Amino acid sequence: MKVNLKNMTIEELKQFCAGESMESYRALQLYRWIWKKDIDNFLDITTLSKKQREELESRIALPRLKVLEVLQARDKTLKFLFGLPDGNTIESVFIPTKRRKTICVSTQVGCSLRCSFCMTGKTGFTRDLSVWEIADQVRRVESIVEKRISNVVLMGIGEPLLNLKNVMKAIKILNCENGMNIGARKITISTAGIIPGIIALSQESIQVKLAVSLNAATDRKREILMPINRKYNLGRLFEALEDYYSLKGKRITFEYVLIKGFNDSISDAKRLASITENIPCKINIIPFNSIGPGKFKRPDPERIKKFINWLSPIAQAVSLRVSRGSAIGGACGQLRARKP
Ligand code: SF4
Repeated sequence: MKVNLKNMTIEELKQFCAGESMESYRALQLYRWIWKKDIDNFLDITTLSKKQREELESRIALPRLKVLEVLQARDKTLKFLFGLPDGNTIESVFIPTKRRKTICVSTQVGCSLRCSFCMTGKTGFTRDLSVWEIADQVRRVESIVEKRISNVVLMGIGEPLLNLKNVMKAIKILNCENGMNIGARKITISTAGIIPGIIALSQESIQVKLAVSLNAATDRKREILMPINRKYNLGRLFEALEDYYSLKGKRITFEYVLIKGFNDSISDAKRLASITENIPCKINIIPFNSIGPGKFKRPDPERIKKFINWLSPIAQAVSLRVSRGSAIGGACGQLRARKP
């Protein structure tokens, strides 16, 4: 089996080069060829001798995700369907604004957590993505849109904290100044509230942002939306988040999908403000995006405004997330693994 250099961080590539008796500066050179110049063929590496190139080409793989489909929404959001070597597919979304070029990246094929407001949750779990399959989503999109990606949100298909080892290695690759050089503070991991993963993330030295998909302010309601709440209830989750904050000192973002008649009342707003009051945080309100026939509906614009008006004076910081790409199934909760 060929060795996949795109699964390696710069440190691992240095070890690989040492094992191949290559000069130590070669690792940096190779890393730049792979992640900056985006080569997929060892024969293109002109800084290596012809003999070296031919010898390595037979043993080394530099795979790329296959672009199967690109859909563009009127607001210029792009949704990519990528093919993986084993025939599975994943989706990524590119969200451009004047100030930022953001990509929402998948971390697993499917998801085991089965949140009831999410299309991915309906398709079930197939497997974790490998390191290169996570990082290459950013590389492929950057080369297609020909714009530098400024922000990465790990909020696509899958639960990142259930694939933390590969996710952290992919983040190191994205963050490396010899590669795509995306600042750690511009990278956000979004979790449904996996407590062991939050604890493990708090031990990592890299300063990424943490977002928590909250969606309800009582265990009863959260369990209806997110079965994982039965394992990691709100009390335990907030204890873990307080510990996380005391170690990292970084404000946490809470995502709150607003659903008509379910979690959009004044008492929901009061409870939400109350459970988040002890943690420095920001609350993102995301009006529910349709995922086809089902019991959940998006509140009307008047109700969304009212909810924000109830919440804003009593919570720390509140913002309304304008979902982009809903017409192409690229908004929050709408991604899924599928065939083109
Ligand atoms: S919302 Fe996130 S954690 Fe929940 S099913 Fe969808 S992808 Fe999985």
